[in-house]
Amino acid sequence: MWRYREAIPLDSNSPIVSFAEGFTPLLPVEIAGRQVLIKQEQLFPSGSYKDRGASVMISQIKQLGITKVVEDSSGNAGAAVAAYCAAAGIQCDIYVPESTSPSKLAQITRYGATLHKIPGSREDTAQAVMTAAEDTYYASHSWNPFFFHGTKTFAFEVCEQLGWQAPDTVILPVGNGTLLLGAYIGFSELVKSGIINRVPRFIGVQAQRCAPLFHAFTTHSDTVACAATGEKTMAEGIAIAAPIRGQQILAAVKHTGGEFITVNEMEILASLTAMFQKGHYIEPTSAAAIAGIKKYVEVQREMGTIDAHEVIVSAFTGHGLKST
Ligand SMILES: *Cc1c(COP(=O)(O)O)cnc(C)c1O
Repeated sequence: MWRYREAIPLDSNSPIVSFAEGFTPLLPVEIAGRQVLIKQEQLFPSGSYKDRGASVMISQIKQLGITKVVEDSSGNAGAAVAAYCAAAGIQCDIYVPESTSPSKLAQITRYGATLHKIPGSREDTAQAVMTAAEDTYYASHSWNPFFFHGTKTFAFEVCEQLGWQAPDTVILPVGNGTLLLGAYIGFSELVKSGIINRVPRFIGVQAQRCAPLFHAFTTHSDTVACAATGEKTMAEGIAIAAPIRGQQILAAVKHTGGEFITVNEMEILASLTAMFQKGHYIEPTSAAAIAGIKKYVEVQREMGTIDAHEVIVSAFTGHGLKST
């Protein structure tokens, strides 16, 4: 991804922390009888696209001379930050909900990070890290803008792989929006530099059990939060009840003429199994996006609005071994 170095706002090259990550394959996968182009983001060094953001953010933190950070995560961002901190020689403490997949926890500790398992919801974990961040640098994937300067390279790669054309539609799983907003920023920068002429339509997929963006969007409400009650979704990577960039995500999706789709647990499980049967070993959070694509295509089919030329792009965001 560092092939786009000029577009990444770091002052100097000396501290770049990289595992030569990125430029993941963009492969056609058939979903509900339709060809969709899927970025193989599960192939990153730490097993999720979060490496895009971590590489840029940790490079910037190293440049600032910071030697210790804290971060909170539902697992994958924590693993990515831990991996890049290990390479940079930066100490890190990762806060996760106690219920996080055991393999993600093992991965975080094996990179050498100190793990803090917090009882309760994802929001309780966010509270705990805020206290730790009172005296230690908070390397947050949701707050830190440099993380988004990493994830925006998703859009650059998609365009380059399509011969510097934008796709028509981008369908992504969304919680805090680190991939969706990053991709939106990337496509917007390509429009500004005259490489493409419009940002594709963005469709955000949320789990029905935790869908604050969907609810805010459909009720035209300003509050992007939902009560953290009821049963947990298996899409742990996007179970964000109160996304801090909620307004920004809503505005981005609206600006592209897009929408939000929710999927239930049965649909997530069915898509996960369907992808396994095609040889794509992804994690349940990634399957939520696939279930969303299936719904999107089925609605189009029902309404007779299928356009065979519509180029749809999505991602396998995380590797299945992370939640086995
Ligand atoms: C982080 C993540 C997402 C997207 O989550 P955001 O909260 O929107 O950043 C999707 N899938 C996986 C596997 C993830 O780790």
